Amino acid sequence: MTQKIVLASGNQGKLKEFFQILAPLGLEVHSQAEFNVPECPEPHITFIENALEKARHASRLTGLPALADDSGVCVNALQGAPGVFSARFAGEPKSDARNNAHMIASLATHSDRSAYYYCVLVYVRSASDPQPVIADGVWRGEMIDTPRGAGGFGYDPYFLIPSLGKTAAELTPEQKNQMSHRGQALRALVEKLK
Ligand code: IMP
Repeated sequence: MTQKIVLASGNQGKLKEFFQILAPLGLEVHSQAEFNVPECPEPHITFIENALEKARHASRLTGLPALADDSGVCVNALQGAPGVFSARFAGEPKSDARNNAHMIASLATHSDRSAYYYCVLVYVRSASDPQPVIADGVWRGEMIDTPRGAGGFGYDPYFLIPSLGKTAAELTPEQKNQMSHRGQALRALVEKLK
């Protein structure tokens, strides 16, 4: 039997990726936009709190089980910033180009360039589910000053994976999924849902 679930995001790329991975488990993923669910505020300072809030919000408004994700980049020399503020690191309106410029400027005097992408996924069976299913993933790398590659999005052209000598933007989508924080979290979630 197929179970409809709602994805607490309007991002078509994520919808497609999640749909493909969760369909074999009998889960049919629908965007919250299909149910006119408005965007949920993300007021918290941790990824997990924001993801939980988004999942509960989508479940409450649709009456369906819901899946939410939250992700960002955390830079060690910046005490974990931008973290949950990654999308708006350089302020509103959000812009990858301005975020990356702000990142490079913020790191100008730092020799420690280590950073990691983080993604957490939260699945709730109902808005009041006392035991959400939670899975996460970490992808370590280094921020560089000069962009390389045309793939990916966000901070990818500046995120170097030292073991590969490539940035995340130089990987194919398949290579990125195999290694990325989001890919790791999704595979871990699938194992838990099985
Ligand atoms: P969201 O979880 O989709 O809202 O992503 C938050 C922000 O984190 C994005 O807007 C990007 O700035 C950054 N981010 C998250 N994942 C990635 C990634 O895989 N590549 C590049 N940037 C990312």
